[in-house]
Amino acid sequence: MRLQSSAAFWAILASASPLGIDAKRGLRRQLASNECTIMAAEALSVTGGEDPDMILECELDPDDADGISGISVPIEATQEQLNALRGMIESGKVNPGRDRLNTSGAKIDGKGVHFPPGLDIANEVRKNNMEDVGRRRLAVTKGDLKMLLVKVTDVGNLAVADTPTFMSDEVFGTGVDVNNLKSGLEACSWKQLNVVVGNNDPNEVAQGVIEVNIGISLTNNTRSAIRNAVTTAVQTKLGYTLPGPFNYVLYSLQGCYVDCGWAAYAYVNSWNSVYQGNYYKQPGVLIHEIGHNFNLAHSGGLNNSTYTDHTCSMGNPHYSDEGFQCFNPAKNFQLNWYNPAKITEDPRVNGYTKTLTLVGIGEYNLTLNAPIATATSANMIYPVTVKLETGGGADYFVGFNRATGPNYLNDEGDNEVTIIQVDGNDGALLSELFEGKASARTVSQPLQLRWNWKDCYDYSKYD
Ligand SMILES: [Zn+2]
Repeated sequence: MRLQSSAAFWAILASASPLGIDAKRGLRRQLASNECTIMAAEALSVTGGEDPDMILECELDPDDADGISGISVPIEATQEQLNALRGMIESGKVNPGRDRLNTSGAKIDGKGVHFPPGLDIANEVRKNNMEDVGRRRLAVTKGDLKMLLVKVTDVGNLAVADTPTFMSDEVFGTGVDVNNLKSGLEACSWKQLNVVVGNNDPNEVAQGVIEVNIGISLTNNTRSAIRNAVTTAVQTKLGYTLPGPFNYVLYSLQGCYVDCGWAAYAYVNSWNSVYQGNYYKQPGVLIHEIGHNFNLAHSGGLNNSTYTDHTCSMGNPHYSDEGFQCFNPAKNFQLNWYNPAKITEDPRVNGYTKTLTLVGIGEYNLTLNAPIATATSANMIYPVTVKLETGGGADYFVGFNRATGPNYLNDEGDNEVTIIQVDGNDGALLSELFEGKASARTVSQPLQLRWNWKDCYDYSKYD
């Protein structure tokens, strides 16, 4: 949808709030549409420490946002209510970017959508099973994926100092930078994902990069107000509602001045990620954020922390411009890049002892080349990820964490077998890295693993 009037646009810029008039008057009103779309953003900490809690917002229908699409405001509720909603998202009961929230009991003002304390927020969720909600693109992980980078300049002329051409190279490798978002995703997916840089739009000042000015300052506005101002400015410049022809759109801000501590944040199962300062240059950070757009959750480690699986880009990423690591077996099962090489084992049916030959994702070509070409049975395909069905809440995913190829910068458990525990849905959740189970192998040699699945049921072993 195009903007209905430029007056609405300027009202928003002037007020530093997506709902400026109400913010000025301090009034709260009901949403006209009585619903908004649940949005969940994950922020990556600058220090590489614990991520903050998942940020919950609601995307307003244009009727509730002066005719503008893509305006997303904080959900204002008690910690208990917010945690209930986070729990539903983490357990896969709510799909952010898609499912809706009934707001008939809520009020909106310049801060966000306020829900009355005590309201059972689970009862307010409206499931939305449509594949394509309006023109919104949900997570797509395969095929040609169009991406756009937006360089933002604020009202005080604050912008990343780099030229658009340099930024295009850093993110998409359109010049000399070999380690970038495009090369990383394409390598990890074994080219099943192809990043298409930009859309040949006349507004692109470098391949895949546009510049916008926002009429508010980065220094004294909230994260949400800034992001809404950028979305509005991009839509005005391009003449269509985001994400438009793009699958993923990245915003680059000069820095963070209010509610900081984040290097970047991204919307889960959606199209947008936002970077501050120099973090847009770091391919590990970019892959982590686009991973959230792909609907991937964080990956916890051996210390029971939510964010310390260093075998996976969804743990702490590399804060540098070096190469990359890919994803852990649970994420590899969730992603659709290795479909012929994903298997499910149910030990209750197939027996508790099994010999399997695994390859790491860095050697997926071992599966794709000779073995498949000459295969006479599916058994000739070496699996890269094995799901162990338990019939209970927790499932396990087993992989060979070969540190080679696109996964060579892997930081933990190199050339060992890793086991990921997932409570709830298939790999969409927090995962837990368990102790490695095999020693290093010669490169280009699949690993034969004899496994007693019963170990996986023995929780006490890992406590
Ligand atoms: Zn994250």
